[in-house]
Amino acid sequence: MGEIVKLIDNLGRSIDYLRLSVTDLCNMRCSYCMPESGVAKLSHCDILSYEQLLTIAQHAVAMGIEKIRITGGEPLVRKGLVEFLGKLSRIPGLKQLVLTTNGLLLEKMALDLKHAGVQRLNVSLDSLRPEVFSRITRRGDLKQVQAGIASAEKAGFPLKINMVVMRGVNDSELVDFAALSLEKSYSVRFIEYMPVIKDDNWQSLVLPGEEILSRLAKHYSFSPVVSGRSSGPAREFKIAGACGTIGVITPLSGHFCHECNRIRVSASGKVRSCLFAKGEFDLKPVLSTGDSALIQGVLLSLIMSKPANHGMTQTSSSHAPFAMSQVGG
Ligand code: SAM
Repeated sequence: MGEIVKLIDNLGRSIDYLRLSVTDLCNMRCSYCMPESGVAKLSHCDILSYEQLLTIAQHAVAMGIEKIRITGGEPLVRKGLVEFLGKLSRIPGLKQLVLTTNGLLLEKMALDLKHAGVQRLNVSLDSLRPEVFSRITRRGDLKQVQAGIASAEKAGFPLKINMVVMRGVNDSELVDFAALSLEKSYSVRFIEYMPVIKDDNWQSLVLPGEEILSRLAKHYSFSPVVSGRSSGPAREFKIAGACGTIGVITPLSGHFCHECNRIRVSASGKVRSCLFAKGEFDLKPVLSTGDSALIQGVLLSLIMSKPANHGMTQTSSSHAPFAMSQVGG
């Protein structure tokens, strides 16, 4: 039997989850993710090749990573993705390969993703009203995303629907989103808005998880479900009689840093132990040495310096603004 490897950081947290970004490009411009003016694109030569991404994944899994989430930017815009995913899914020891998408290109790709070995999809969906959806995404077509979700369901994917809740923007749709879990086995998750780009007055957009739940409780009776490993940081509930679940993810009001199990690698090879960490490490020069011990040593020292918490609250944050699409959401 293979040796079981566990990665434990200095604070005793077990690190077994890698979020791997395959591109900084996105076919949406979500208001919570990037400024209206957009963000500078990385040049082609700055982006890691699939070979380099695979090498990182292989080393990470050899060190104890069990779950990889493919993200971006929008991962489905990168050419050759399906073939890459097929290679990733065959890494011995990798237990979960999942992907996060905005769903715009999902309709045609869902079945290929399934065949490549992706086990679950998270689809970001922030409004069920076409005009609100296009205002938030600044270019998305809601119907196309809904067709993508239908296609993913048909392909047999378990689905998580993630809504970033913003007061005064889409919070009037909480009940409609929760209703999605009634007849479908979706896991609908309400995510507290995080001030990544730090727009003016960002505090006014934050709707704390407790308020989300208390608003929903006026319409539905729901009870907690015992969260399994796949629920991640979400607190999950089931509306009486529903097929699926609802959940809240509360990075600000109830942050889960003490049990954070993840590291992130951006499309250009910058590795971070915390989304809001002040420092990141450039893996690219290390990768070019081809020295396995060096690559794993860098990953390990990063993990050992993972901060105790992200330091953000509902009213303050000291990080420098960034676009999620660049770090890998
Ligand atoms: N393009 C893919 C997508 O839309 O799912 C993957 C990348 S995107 C950056 C991943 C997700 O990060 C978003 O949909 C959202 O759930 C989360 N995210 C980005 N900015 C956020 C913010 N300011 N607050 C909370 N969640 C955010």
